[in-house]
Amino acid sequence: MRRNVSLEEISDGRLYDLNDMVKADCGNCAGCSACCQGMGDSILLDPLDVYRLTLCLDRSFESLLSDCLELGVVDGIVLPHLKMTDKEERCVFLNEEGRCSIHPHRPGICRLFPLGRYYENSSFRYFLQTGECRNTNRTKVKVSKWIDTPQIRGNQKFIADWHYFLKDMEDKVQEAAARGDDLAKNLNLYLLNTFFVTPYEREASFYGQVAGRMSRAKQEICNLTEDIH
Ligand code: SF4
Ligand code: SF4
Repeated sequence: MRRNVSLEEISDGRLYDLNDMVKADCGNCAGCSACCQGMGDSILLDPLDVYRLTLCLDRSFESLLSDCLELGVVDGIVLPHLKMTDKEERCVFLNEEGRCSIHPHRPGICRLFPLGRYYENSSFRYFLQTGECRNTNRTKVKVSKWIDTPQIRGNQKFIADWHYFLKDMEDKVQEAAARGDDLAKNLNLYLLNTFFVTPYEREASFYGQVAGRMSRAKQEICNLTEDIH
């Protein structure tokens, strides 16, 4: 999701790499679950997030859409996000004790918080959102430890590739919408099916599979748009 604010407005003005120390550690969130409530449709999921959920809950993407996830439109692209429930708008995975019931399998955005990603030059670094976390006594932690993600370099490559892939798709959808043809709808259906509905093989590397799908998708979408012109 693109945000039209300056880095200075929402952060301490610094960009962080994996080995940097950052004041993000909120001490196991003791007694607080503020960022797991009232988040609307903002906890967007990428193919890895959905893959993790399908594995840990042993359910298909379509089944998760019935009660845990919802679809929304972000910059013209249909993407899944976590569902909030009840009048308090609690995340469906927040349990009675106010803890995350899927903690080892939580989405990338939840792993990051209160960090965010700042994309540039086909890559990204992290920034600290200074006004988001309720804990004002956070301590310093190494970024890589805070993110708590296996195969971190492969993960970073996937995150950057997915971001820039979606940016290309947004441009194509906007061009199609301006022309008034069906490409925007077809492209969104194609993306949902290719990256979220079609299961990934459990025995093979997720990152290898999703990279292959992105590469094929670029070619197939290129053919699709050429057919229209
Ligand atoms: S607002 Fe901060 S302390 Fe509260 S749950 Fe979120 S990360 Fe933890
Ligand atoms: S998945 Fe877990 S960490 Fe993320 S918003 Fe839901 S309860 Fe909170």
